[in-house]
Amino acid sequence: MTRSEFRKDIVSGDWILVAGGLKKKPNFFAKAPKKIKISKKGCPFENVKEGHKLILSSEFAKVVLNKFPILTPRKVCPIPLSEAPYEKMAGVGFQELVITPDHSRSLGDMMKEEILSVLEAYLSRYQALKKEKCIEYILIFHNHGPSAGATVPHPHSQILALPIIPLDVERSLSGSASYFKKYSRCVHCAILKKELRNKKRIIYKNKDFIAIAPYASHVSFETRLYPLKHGSNFEEMSQAEKENFADMMRAVFAKLKNGMNNPDYNFFIHTAPVKADHVKHYHWHLEILPRTNIWGGVELGTGTEVIKMPPEESAKILREART
Ligand SMILES: [Zn+2]
Ligand SMILES: [Zn+2]
Repeated sequence: MTRSEFRKDIVSGDWILVAGGLKKKPNFFAKAPKKIKISKKGCPFENVKEGHKLILSSEFAKVVLNKFPILTPRKVCPIPLSEAPYEKMAGVGFQELVITPDHSRSLGDMMKEEILSVLEAYLSRYQALKKEKCIEYILIFHNHGPSAGATVPHPHSQILALPIIPLDVERSLSGSASYFKKYSRCVHCAILKKELRNKKRIIYKNKDFIAIAPYASHVSFETRLYPLKHGSNFEEMSQAEKENFADMMRAVFAKLKNGMNNPDYNFFIHTAPVKADHVKHYHWHLEILPRTNIWGGVELGTGTEVIKMPPEESAKILREART
């Protein structure tokens, strides 16, 4: 690609700017200065039994209540209150942490069995929290590295059960719904069909899942993991699919670590809202957003980065990186 181009994200409707023909490749692989250094000795996740309420425990994953929650569990569902012209609602919800045993072993270092344990913890808590009556959306996410907002370096994921549907999810749902109305098919299935045929943006694939660099990536090296078979609900994986998703996560996080010199990143799972089962137009997925850039005015004002490396090139680097 020699000239820059705008690409449209057909789900959200966002326009992304992919820069082309850079004389010098930006150094995506340089490590950001690490500010937070918490040694194993001072780490709050070394002995989770002390000071944390333990919810679930398996060989490679423990689930605990967040000790400093921003949301509080309550029996009564919050209702929007007017404070004209504003509106507000009580901060009701659940916040849990999924912690792996080793202080310095991140997802990119783990074996499939360890990742499977983490995945099973996500699924089991998702299913339990789904039964809470005030919950509309459950967000599972993970921050890796200080520039991605990880305040404790010990690897951990977070589960946030919310009484609302977040705006980003809402936009993605309504974009998918309007595509379905127009073309009678799932927009994500249409994207995957194109990517499977085109092959340029495929990073990794196994029997049930595929990892791609999205055509209209919102950040450089964005990576998305999708089930190949249509499904809107993350929590409904079969045993074989769990195994293959663990294999997929292991391979992709190892590739990020080896191919990009262990970048900071965030990832989250986007799935259908808890009260929307088996939606024809929505297709669950896991989004990984490496932190290759500090967001300034352009990024914050537009909601996207200028993509300095075309997704076709970042896919090639990650496809060829060691697993
Ligand atoms: Zn630790
Ligand atoms: Zn689909």
